Amino acid sequence: MANTQTVKIHPAVDNGVRRSNPDFSGGVLTCHCASRPVKVRVGAQTAHNHVCGCTKCWKPQGAIFSQVAVVSRDAIEILENGDKLQVVNKDAPIQRYACSECGVHMYGRIENKDHPFYGLDFVHTELSDADGWSAPEFAAFVSSVIESGVDPSRMDGIRERLRELGLTPYDTLSPPLMDAIATHAANRQAKPEPTAARQSAAPAAAESRPPATATHGRSQESHPPARNGGSIFSRLLNKLLGGSSR
Ligand SMILES: [Zn+2]
Ligand SMILES: [Zn+2]
Repeated sequence: MANTQTVKIHPAVDNGVRRSNPDFSGGVLTCHCASRPVKVRVGAQTAHNHVCGCTKCWKPQGAIFSQVAVVSRDAIEILENGDKLQVVNKDAPIQRYACSECGVHMYGRIENKDHPFYGLDFVHTELSDADGWSAPEFAAFVSSVIESGVDPSRMDGIRERLRELGLTPYDTLSPPLMDAIATHAANRQAKPEPTAARQSAAPAAAESRPPATATHGRSQESHPPARNGGSIFSRLLNKLLGGSSR
């Protein structure tokens, strides 16, 4: 078995996961620029913090996982040098606002009101020097680190290290978040849809809205689009079942 002590996940967790402070109410994220850094206030405690192996989240140099949490979009306020912010990919389900000089992602926002996570922004709390942010709780999209260059032979050691840190490894999202996505999909199916959406025979693929790939940018964005996989949930399932379109 691999020596797990040498497995580096992310600097914020490699020496053990720091605990949340229940009374914590937010802080200021600062990009890595030495001059004119972008500053963004997150005016609330974050939730669902986790390490993520997808290829879309911003990671610090050398880390194989990112660390990312969500917070209500109302809690985000650009304080300084917002002119340096640029959206990484305007077609992605999450609009990631990155500093155009240092490349750090300051927040990711969902503009599609049909997205299961609409209303939540994605933030990297390590960009704040405050203590007490919600602690990472699990590891998402673990298998995807292979797509960013990790040798598959290292996966046992990586998963073991994640478990050791108390970050249960999942190859999609955690069960509560997967349940939230499924509930959203079920509710949408239960509600009357516009005529166009009801014409499709396959219920899970009934929505023909634009590229709502995965939740937070799982690598489907770089895969051939599943032609019939309309909903985010069916696309995730598609990915789980081998990614072929039916
Ligand atoms: Zn910067
Ligand atoms: Zn990610």
